[in-house]
Amino acid sequence: MTIQTLGITEPSFRDSVDIMFRRAVQRMAISRGLAEKIRICNSTYVVRFGVRLRGDIVTFTGYRSVHSEHAEPVKGGIRYAMNVDQDEVEALAALMTYKCALVEVPFGGSKGGLKINPREWNAEEMERITRRFAYELIKRDLINPSQNVPAPDMGTGEREMAWIADQYHRMATTDINARACVTGKPLNAGGIRGRVEATGRGIQYVAREFFRHEEDVALAGLSGSLAGKSVVVQGLGNVGYHAAKFLSEEDHCRVTAIAEYNGGIVNDDGIDVQAAKDWMGAHGTLEGFAGAAFVKEAASLLEKPCDILIPAALEGVVNAGNAERVSCKLLIEAANGPVTASADDVLRKRGIIVIPDLFANAGGVTVSYFEWVKNLSHIRFGRMQRREEEARGRMLIDELERTIGKPLGAEFKARFINGSDELALVRSGLDDTMRGAYGQMRKVWHERRTSDPEVDLRMAGYIIAIQRVADSYSALGL
Ligand code: GLU
Repeated sequence: MTIQTLGITEPSFRDSVDIMFRRAVQRMAISRGLAEKIRICNSTYVVRFGVRLRGDIVTFTGYRSVHSEHAEPVKGGIRYAMNVDQDEVEALAALMTYKCALVEVPFGGSKGGLKINPREWNAEEMERITRRFAYELIKRDLINPSQNVPAPDMGTGEREMAWIADQYHRMATTDINARACVTGKPLNAGGIRGRVEATGRGIQYVAREFFRHEEDVALAGLSGSLAGKSVVVQGLGNVGYHAAKFLSEEDHCRVTAIAEYNGGIVNDDGIDVQAAKDWMGAHGTLEGFAGAAFVKEAASLLEKPCDILIPAALEGVVNAGNAERVSCKLLIEAANGPVTASADDVLRKRGIIVIPDLFANAGGVTVSYFEWVKNLSHIRFGRMQRREEEARGRMLIDELERTIGKPLGAEFKARFINGSDELALVRSGLDDTMRGAYGQMRKVWHERRTSDPEVDLRMAGYIIAIQRVADSYSALGL
């Protein structure tokens, strides 16, 4: 299947993922048969169901694809959007397989989607539609704590996850692990602290880790630290907003442009991300926001010169039509599939470093894994250790102060004594995961790139992920 971008033919999203997969597999010692088994999507369930709404029956089409069951449960979000189709859901499910394998989250890959414009329906209607969709998936074990665990994606959030969890509970009243049937739930419905911010937080940790490696920073044509770097963000949804907010407020980056579907804003001195988000929330557009100049043609902002470009919305936004004009040094794929396979070739030849989706946006599923473990263990992280840690810290400080004969600084003491709560532990686990995976990817990248210049971070990520899936198939005797 192919799609047209400004008259240029290029692969569909699923074909793009396949091309990236094949480029990696060609360089690996695994049989063609096994590679094919890993590449193909195991199954896609398509459901059409009717819901009585506004005095009539409205029919919806939904999907749940299972790409690979080498590890179970399989995992991946449910997307609500009008452009959802089988090709997209299968591409996203494949990415989930590689993503989980790369960051060592013990899940197979899955993804779901419902063809709907969430803006068209009120909360009560959305609840009825979501419960009905969930019912269809639950009765086929396509939502199940030990088999298939959805999560939020574009167009869905905590609210939808709470409805799904409750629907599962109604249908599996004696399942003690019912809450683990879905992640991304609100805290009071079995969620975990730090899940909402997780993907954006992950992007921040990725950027920080990249800048810890001088050699990699130099390859991107950059130097120094994150502080002061100019950042262009596409999409001010959950992922783009958190990434932009953390990078500007905590790492002192300058967010010079934000692009949204209905217009963008530019300010070379840096945009106040929180203020822009508040404006967008109140007005539904960035137009009229006082802290920056409004640009109607937001797509052009992807071409604005900057140090770091973060596409955090749709797939295929960097494509054959604009790849030659994109003028960042480093591109971090916060969205799934924002760069098409043909654009990827162009960016690589132009020396732009791409931190690929299967790694960059894995923060969401990583914290989903922590939530699932929390649900199965029926206790929040840190509950047993926090005060014990605190008591040990206090003991050490007391002894130190006694020995040196003077008190230590109050701020230091407070920070040192403080035992880790759930949020601190989640962030620590996420940071460790992202740093560990980046280290593995850059090792493969640098080992191979001198003799094979086509090897980039994306290919390194695919090589590691595919090898892990292949190893688990071999362990199963396949
Ligand atoms: N939808 C997110 C993703 O694409 C999160 C998936 C999950 O947490 O299972 O990675």
